Amino acid sequence: MIIGLTGKNGAGKGEVARYLKERGFQYFSLSDALREEAQRRRQELTRETLVALGNDLRARFGPGVLAERIFSRLDPEKNYVIDSIRHPSEVQVFRRRADFVLAAVRAPERLRFERLRLRARENDPRTFEDFQALESREAQSGNASDQQLDGAIAMNDIVLENTGPLKMLHDKVRELLQEFSKKEVRPEWDDYFMGIAKVVALRSNCMKRKVAAVIVKDKRIISTGYNGTPRGVRNCSEGGCPRCNSVDASGKGLEECLCSHAEENAIVQSAYHGVSIKEAVLYTTYSPCLICTKMIINAGLREVVYNMDYAVADTAMRLLAEAGVVVRKLAVAVSEPPGFGPEPAEEAPHL
Ligand SMILES: [Zn+2]
Ligand SMILES: [Zn+2]
Repeated sequence: MIIGLTGKNGAGKGEVARYLKERGFQYFSLSDALREEAQRRRQELTRETLVALGNDLRARFGPGVLAERIFSRLDPEKNYVIDSIRHPSEVQVFRRRADFVLAAVRAPERLRFERLRLRARENDPRTFEDFQALESREAQSGNASDQQLDGAIAMNDIVLENTGPLKMLHDKVRELLQEFSKKEVRPEWDDYFMGIAKVVALRSNCMKRKVAAVIVKDKRIISTGYNGTPRGVRNCSEGGCPRCNSVDASGKGLEECLCSHAEENAIVQSAYHGVSIKEAVLYTTYSPCLICTKMIINAGLREVVYNMDYAVADTAMRLLAEAGVVVRKLAVAVSEPPGFGPEPAEEAPHL
């Protein structure tokens, strides 16, 4: 979960961040990213130099640059609070994560000014007039790469009014956490099983293509398979299959191929363990070939869910339809772990 904080000076963002840190959230601040950059450049850390540096970075590297620097450091399994979001493009960077929520912390102008005076930071404005002038500079600008605090605040998912005692603010943050955990993002079943199939495909030892299948019954995996040479035979990738290791055109010499297909291996694995797959669902990263299709039908599988089209599957598709096997293609390609995965689908698979 990522909670982004935006709001004007003295609204109480720091207090919300402190409260979340105490509850195990890791803290990042876009202002800290800016301070680090200023220190690298040996610049003074005054409010003016920081604002100018922020505007300069946004102008040169895009308005989301500070957010990007932090975003690349986030671990999907941890909780974060990100302070000092001041531009709509920064919000958009974090919106790439489905578990991001933007909270705008709000309080009346006079109250915020009083709070600033109490905290007495060296760079804070001394008079209410200076404070108002600063605020209007930060709120919006005709220059798209300057801070656009009003624009960022307008994108909030939730407003935290901070006009009363701290306990009230803490209660609101707790409510936010409870509300948010109800909406916890979990993959749908199809994405879950296809995502697992894509990880299974990484174990494939075939030179030509990495494919995998997962057989599921009552939403539980009972068998998996990936393509490659049979048990006890040298791996395809170590030269075990002469056909896959030859440079023949795709689709040539299929009958000479020593590699078993992923669907075939998933079906055979369940036989190996003596588990019936009657009425089960097969998830496969590619639509099945004709030989695997015949096995799917006779093994009693009820449904085939696939992610990408196998180039020569027309007859297989007709056969599955005639035999009454439900076939579904997942509309969205499920993403593979970074750095792996099959080649682009346009290229005809040559298993
Ligand atoms: Zn092979
Ligand atoms: Zn096949």
